[in-house]
Amino acid sequence: PSNPPAGEPGTATAPAAVAPAAVAARLREAFATGRTKPLAWRLAQLAALRSLLTDRTEALLTALHSDLGKGAREAYRTEIAFTLNELDHTVAHLEEWLRPRPAAVPENFRPAEARVVRDPLGVVLIIAPWNYPLQLALAPLVGALAAGNAALVKPSELAPATSAALAELLPHYLDRDAVAVVEGGVPETTALLEQRFDHIFYTGNGAVGRIVMAAAARHLTPVTLELGGKSPVVVEPGVDLAVTAERLARGKFLNAGQTCVAPDYVLAVGDTAAALERHLADAVETLYGQDPATHPEYGRIVNERHFDRLTALLGDGRTVIGGQHDRASRYLAPTVLADVAPDAPVMREEIFGPLLPIVAVPDLDAAIAFVNERDKPLALYAFTESEQTKRRLTEETSSGALTFGLPVSHLAVPELPFGGVGESGMGRYHGEYSLDTFSHTKAVLDKPLG
Ligand code: NAD
Repeated sequence: PSNPPAGEPGTATAPAAVAPAAVAARLREAFATGRTKPLAWRLAQLAALRSLLTDRTEALLTALHSDLGKGAREAYRTEIAFTLNELDHTVAHLEEWLRPRPAAVPENFRPAEARVVRDPLGVVLIIAPWNYPLQLALAPLVGALAAGNAALVKPSELAPATSAALAELLPHYLDRDAVAVVEGGVPETTALLEQRFDHIFYTGNGAVGRIVMAAAARHLTPVTLELGGKSPVVVEPGVDLAVTAERLARGKFLNAGQTCVAPDYVLAVGDTAAALERHLADAVETLYGQDPATHPEYGRIVNERHFDRLTALLGDGRTVIGGQHDRASRYLAPTVLADVAPDAPVMREEIFGPLLPIVAVPDLDAAIAFVNERDKPLALYAFTESEQTKRRLTEETSSGALTFGLPVSHLAVPELPFGGVGESGMGRYHGEYSLDTFSHTKAVLDKPLG
């Protein structure tokens, strides 16, 4: 597990502000009426969610700035536009995705017809984290509603302004008997997890992922766990290092490094490390200027606990650029660390902040071995011109996603599944994969009586 959990389970002694049992019962009652099943209801909910995002853009951007110092352009692109794209892609294809799919019937059963239909699951719980507090609450909700479910959204208490905005706005726009928001932290989530849900979709760290899965087991509730971990970047000799550095820096320093699929560290193959570090220093200056503290698009660390955790890692390796920090404003400069030892503290846990260590490895074999000796990453990135390297990384490593040439971008391709493997999670979503996650795929066989 990369991050310590925000708290321990079972510490809830005081009753939660909203009675979770009553909210879950209301949602279950609404689902039981069948109102969430028709395509028309699903499309109407998605249209209403679209209106929320377009009518209330300013309020949402203000909340995101207040929680994470997110600049308006970055916040619009990664939280609002991203969710709108996911929503529009779903609306454009939903009818087609919901069409029953014919299945071939073996000769000995004929005449008969077989088909596969997607049934809604019932009431789903979505538990969201703080780092993209809007996107990671609403993109799963798009899938849950598209699949015809009632849904309960639990935003992260560590992004309180966005949590409050969701709690205020979702009931205004959506069917309030079938969609609810419960705010709160560990006690409230612990109480929610005692209820029976038909699916739990959790995004966050692996320690809490285990708590969620254990709670789900009591009701035999299926879970999707969107977790994190260290996502490596392999850089091979012979690539354009200026382009590589620019794309790496963009992916890494987005949201001040607090992105689940941020490049965590670089494995610089052969003699690339020295030149790469110079290009990374240039790229940081091009993106954020000489003093990133004054750049409107550079974010802040979410809280003091994470700030202290990150600044404790600053002693590792040699600082190429960055390292400046200010606890009062939770500012930590985009930082590149060179000559980092493979077992340095910064290499032991998911960084989840704006520190980019470079570890030199002699060749591709060593890079592949390095990746395979550690937890399966949420994403593996590589900059290479070699088709053989691409083939070897595809065949010889395991990760949630594998992206060549543009870190982080795979998550914005709606036809690609998004999710982890092993310690980086289980299950997947986005586009049609969300529909699968939030549906039961039901077999129907119809044999005439005659
Ligand atoms: P967080 O602290 O906001 O926790 C996530 C959710 O879990 C919150 O809603 C929180 O209230 C709840 N929670 C916390 N402690 C709990 C407990 N003891 N019992 C029940 N619920 C509890 O966010 P975080 O975990 O710090 O998020 C960062 C992690 O999430 C990183 O590891 C990151 O890589 C990962 N992440 C993954 C994805 C993905 O899509 N795979 C996306 C974003 C973040």
